[in-house]
Amino acid sequence: MSRKYLIAGNWKMNLTPDDSAALVEEINAVVGTQTSVQVCVCPPFTSLPVVSDKVEQTEVHLGAQNMHAEPSGAYTGEISAEMLRSLYVSHVILGHSERRQYCGETNASINQKILAAIQANLKPIYCVGETLGEREAGKTMEIVSTQVREGLEGYPSSALDLLVIAYEPVWAIGTGKTATDEMAQEVHAGIRQVLTEMFGEADASSIRILYGGSMKPENAAGLLAQPDVDGGLIGGASLSAKPFCDIVEAAIAAE
Ligand code: PEP
Repeated sequence: MSRKYLIAGNWKMNLTPDDSAALVEEINAVVGTQTSVQVCVCPPFTSLPVVSDKVEQTEVHLGAQNMHAEPSGAYTGEISAEMLRSLYVSHVILGHSERRQYCGETNASINQKILAAIQANLKPIYCVGETLGEREAGKTMEIVSTQVREGLEGYPSSALDLLVIAYEPVWAIGTGKTATDEMAQEVHAGIRQVLTEMFGEADASSIRILYGGSMKPENAAGLLAQPDVDGGLIGGASLSAKPFCDIVEAAIAAE
């Protein structure tokens, strides 16, 4: 099954609307018309309107970094799936390790968000990954399998075309330490095995599994060459157009 690469930029809590507009214009100019690789930018909520306008006539997709599971109501400070849809957001990062660590998100609470996202036809980019301590204790696959199974509890097979998984070893995020190509492939293959047990081989083989954790132009080609690595979720290197577009170019070359 051929899976189109997806390169998604997670801008985290960075960039004002003006900064965001400038960055996405640069990205548009370099990779905004090509279609061989899917490109998605995920600005902070405050920049979604301006970036939405800027990507409207391009091939660049728009993602959010979080959403609430409920459609509306007394949830001060929260944003719903429908609000994202109204800004033409197509993707939403859910379960990022920073939200698990700082905002108390759990597999169960993320599961509610994933199910709400697909109800609204948003594509969840579901983040999973082990901490350094878990890796050193030999528990990587146990942790990641549980995250996949619990986060996707009750996920309907009919919506699997929306699903993206991102394997992000916590020890590699923002640290400059990257999983080796082999380490990434081993976990990605393990995730696909879990997806096969949950949904069957044909469906599992169509789900994209991105790698995230200090991906940059220098290591992108090796990671993207792995058979089960279907793209990247990029943090630090997505905050400037040059490294981000160079990673997109590496994916185009690997197609
Ligand atoms: C991320 O936070 O999703 C990420 C991959 O960050 P970085 O690329 O900076 O490690």
